[in-house]
Amino acid sequence: MDSRTTNFIGGEWRAPSTGETMPNVNPADRRDVIGEFPSSGEQDVDLAVRFAAEAQLGWAALPAPARGEFLRKAADVIEGRLEDIALGLMREEGKSLPEARGETLRAVTLMRYHAAQTMLPDGDVIPSAGASTFLYSLRVPLGVCAAITPWNFPIAIPVWKCAPALAFGNTVVLKPSEETPLTAVHLAECFEAVGLPNGVFNLVHGTGEAAGKPLVRHPLVRAVSFTGSVDTGKHIARIAVETGKKYQLEMGGKNGVVVMPDANLESAVTLILQGAFKSAGEKCTATSRVIIHQDIYAEFAARIVERTKALKVGPGDDPAAYLGPVIRESAQSSIIQQIEIAHQQGCELLAGGAAPAEAALRHGFYVLPTVLGRVPAGMRIAREEVFGPVLCLMRAADFDEAIAMLNDIEFGLSAAIFTRDLDTALKFAERADAGLVRINGETAGVEPQAPFGGMKASSSFSREQGMAAREFYTQTKTVSIDRAL
Ligand code: NAD
Repeated sequence: MDSRTTNFIGGEWRAPSTGETMPNVNPADRRDVIGEFPSSGEQDVDLAVRFAAEAQLGWAALPAPARGEFLRKAADVIEGRLEDIALGLMREEGKSLPEARGETLRAVTLMRYHAAQTMLPDGDVIPSAGASTFLYSLRVPLGVCAAITPWNFPIAIPVWKCAPALAFGNTVVLKPSEETPLTAVHLAECFEAVGLPNGVFNLVHGTGEAAGKPLVRHPLVRAVSFTGSVDTGKHIARIAVETGKKYQLEMGGKNGVVVMPDANLESAVTLILQGAFKSAGEKCTATSRVIIHQDIYAEFAARIVERTKALKVGPGDDPAAYLGPVIRESAQSSIIQQIEIAHQQGCELLAGGAAPAEAALRHGFYVLPTVLGRVPAGMRIAREEVFGPVLCLMRAADFDEAIAMLNDIEFGLSAAIFTRDLDTALKFAERADAGLVRINGETAGVEPQAPFGGMKASSSFSREQGMAAREFYTQTKTVSIDRAL
């Protein structure tokens, strides 16, 4: 096995104890096997956690700005390897090369942001009732943190978990998605290149069942940061509670956009298509429902359909392709099946709905960008996450009905409105049940220095990135000092 495709534990590249591997396949062409990656088990997880636990006290004892210096250097290494990382990311995840580059640059920014956080005050001085008492609080690390990540942002999400964890003096075991192990290897190589002390960052590949579960259960793990599907998140939360760990969950979405008659319709169409179809709709913040005011429904739906039909599907390195493949064959067939069911149940199929017919694309897991019209709010496709390039158009009588439809789902990740009216925009910001609200913007995308996370079933009420990361990766200690008179 190539050393680059092993686990990274205690500062060394180690083959899994199981001796088993899993193939990593390019979703744009199943004949392209990128490599065999470890299918690790409990023993590998245990080793990684023990190394992380051993390294933690020394790492936390470093002055915070010195920890930040490692992150600053790691950001520079990622930036220097941008093209290599982005090409690997595109090849294993399927998104376009510009998007893969954008995601990698976002990881650089995140790393720099969290490096800078190590220079900020880490506590408060509190007035004491005692005349000679010095009372203060300070933020201290949690210990070993587990990061369990999905495949759709294989560098940004691991970095937005690992960078703040490390900045605040924790050590980390990363269990990346089994669909995108190469990008995680690239990240580990960047940490290795800057001489991060052994055991501070560890990488264990494997399935959720064989590697993820024992990581969450491990008694030396103090906190779990998870991004992925709702079912996995609920499972992790139960184990975390049983085993006394701090946890945060960022999960699915069914993100809605409201379009009012006074909107700039042209720019609304562009941003809705971007939100729905870039990255083949495989973003937790992807636009999946468009709730259109009845006065403009016919005109707006026609514009969406016309523009969607002109979008080209193709591999990530085809500059003409707007969207690439979905992650795997089972996702492709499940997305197409969900569209067919919705169509049979009475939705209009206005664009897409199948795999592309081109012979050149037959080895990839492609789904044409799909628009469903007149989708009833109660229908499954309007309520459940599809995680593919599928957009549901819905019709509302007025703003109040649109908001009711927007909020009447279990998720609450992101929401947007297109309007020129300030009052409507502000009412929307107040009433949308979503952790991320955009006015005249795309549902997807948030700046790394701002808190990120959802409401309702999309999250565990926690937030990531920005200053919110400090809340999760630290705990507060209150200290009082009195003179020994
Ligand atoms: P997933 O839940 O299948 O897997 C996520 C990670 O959890 C993987 O590393 C997987 O191996 C691991 N895992 C699976 N079962 C586990 C278990 N029992 N114990 C421990 N770990 C386990 O999700 P996915 O298919 O990789 O990602 C897609 C989902 O992620 C979508 O629902 C999407 O909305 C969501 N997502 C959310 C956000 C957000 O910030 N809200 C961002 C990106 C993706």
